[in-house]
Amino acid sequence: MNTIEKFVVHKKFNHKHFTSTILAGNLKDKIVRDKFLISQGLNPTNLVLANQVHSANIKIVGNTDSGNFIDNCDGLITNDKSIMLGVFTADCVPLLITNGTIKAAIHAGWKGIYLGILENTIEVFKNKFSVHVKDIEVYIGPHIRFCCYEVGKNFEDLFNLKLQDNKLDLSRIVFNKLKNLGLVNIFDVNKCTFCQDDYFFSYRRDKTSKRMLSLIV
Ligand SMILES: [Zn+2]
Repeated sequence: MNTIEKFVVHKKFNHKHFTSTILAGNLKDKIVRDKFLISQGLNPTNLVLANQVHSANIKIVGNTDSGNFIDNCDGLITNDKSIMLGVFTADCVPLLITNGTIKAAIHAGWKGIYLGILENTIEVFKNKFSVHVKDIEVYIGPHIRFCCYEVGKNFEDLFNLKLQDNKLDLSRIVFNKLKNLGLVNIFDVNKCTFCQDDYFFSYRRDKTSKRMLSLIV
């Protein structure tokens, strides 16, 4: 990126989506969010969000959830074309997942990943919606990457790996888990929230309550 845009996308992820940047503002703020969505030709009342509690819980949502925050979950999934799904992040991994008709938005921090949020999500695609894993596409949005994510030694046991320079490669953990679940279409925008400070909010860097929104239409 040479000039800052209000959002980033992955060109290969074949479904309307984005992750907002600093330039779009703090999309956790409803007034800022609604204004931004309208500027993008999107109707804010069609958006469904999760309250995000660092769990591995996924909720199936529909039209009656329009405009609401869903309690006690970090992932939303739907077969309803009339709604959009979103997640807020500032270092955690935002994932947007679809086969074209079923779509999901997932908030995946180390804790949710450890607790199995990726496995739970793909399970719902397979067992509730009869989607073949090979037909699923995943967008991995901006998050804190190996360059910047220092953690304690206890993460070696949690994820059964050896840390390099005390850094955790969350991107690789996510990619490998998805690959092991049988997915082949995994698209990572390859951006770090912590060191690309012109573009992204970072909780670790700034202890900020501001958040980017990743959204799938
Ligand atoms: Zn970095």
